[in-house]
Amino acid sequence: MIPPSFDYHCPKTVSEAVALLDKFGDEAKILAGGHSLLPMMKLRFTEPANLIDLNKVPELRGIKEEGGVIKIGSMTTENQVLYSDLLLKKVPLLPEAAKLIADPQVRNRGTIGGDIAHGDPANDHPAIAMALDASFVLQGPNGQRKVKAVDFFHGTYMTEMAENEILVSIEVAPFAPKTGYAYHKLKRKTGDWATAAAAVVLQMSAGKVTHVAIGLTNVAPTAMRATAAEQLMIGKEITPALLDQVAESVRSICDPAEDLRGDAEYKTAMAGEMTRRAITAAMAHCQ
Ligand SMILES: Cc1cc2nc3c(=O)[nH]c(=O)nc-3n(C[C@H](O)[C@H](O)[C@H](O)COP(=O)(O)OP(=O)(O)OC[C@H]3O[C@@H](n4cnc5c(N)ncnc54)[C@H](O)[C@@H]3O)c2cc1C
Repeated sequence: MIPPSFDYHCPKTVSEAVALLDKFGDEAKILAGGHSLLPMMKLRFTEPANLIDLNKVPELRGIKEEGGVIKIGSMTTENQVLYSDLLLKKVPLLPEAAKLIADPQVRNRGTIGGDIAHGDPANDHPAIAMALDASFVLQGPNGQRKVKAVDFFHGTYMTEMAENEILVSIEVAPFAPKTGYAYHKLKRKTGDWATAAAAVVLQMSAGKVTHVAIGLTNVAPTAMRATAAEQLMIGKEITPALLDQVAESVRSICDPAEDLRGDAEYKTAMAGEMTRRAITAAMAHCQ
């Protein structure tokens, strides 16, 4: 299928891109890797009259550490996340999870910023960003602002980003030594979105949990943090009985859409199971 016709714009800086967005309003869309946008255009779910391509904006690419914060440019591809030495050393959850996103071809062009900005609850980065307590830097005509990942997603395909704003970067704190982490994703086959998935970041001291963050993928209209389940774990040893309670708490907040990946009951059960497995795997890194 061929998408409807559009005018193509190729800014060289973020300011130029923002000015174009501001000028065209709801008649424009940002083009990043195109792996979500182009299929939607071909299906006529969206028909932007103007495409603003960010691929020639160098300031949006790359991963660096600055002032004790890891900053990932929104146009950084999944493959760059996957093979980043800095992330492998400082935030290894991201490369571990990127391996499970789509397939090598999609990872070659698909960007971390596009995965987040799209606002699809089936995408993996939103829940991972929540588990990492990440912040998103947005730039509009009046400058930049920062939004926490947990406050960014308002509904399926709806985010905090205004029509004339661009997601510039994702900011994450480096892991403290012995931070546990895991992303467990149930999928039907390589390249598929999650039936259900859980991202876990865990810290323990003297055998007890001191910090835990659980992000859930594709089991509600947006990615979400399982805060009540997290509270159950603080100050406790991780035992099979506690994991049962945590899984039950996770299941109680799920509200998945039924589709070919399963009905609501199955996806809800799998969210509990993915969380249990991710916590167990995360514990191994805490020693
Ligand atoms: C076969 C296949 C399998 C896939 N499997 C998975 C999977 O398992 N897990 C997963 O998470 N994803 C999956 N995806 C989606 C893929 O990761 C996409 O690349 C991603 O959703 C969008 O990133 P993109 O760079 O391609 O963005 P685009 O498609 O170019 O853009 C997506 C949306 O975000 C907006 N946007 C993009 N960048 C910005 C920005 N910097 N600022 C503001 N708005 C912006 C665009 O305007 C558009 O509305 C899959 C895709 C395909 C085709």
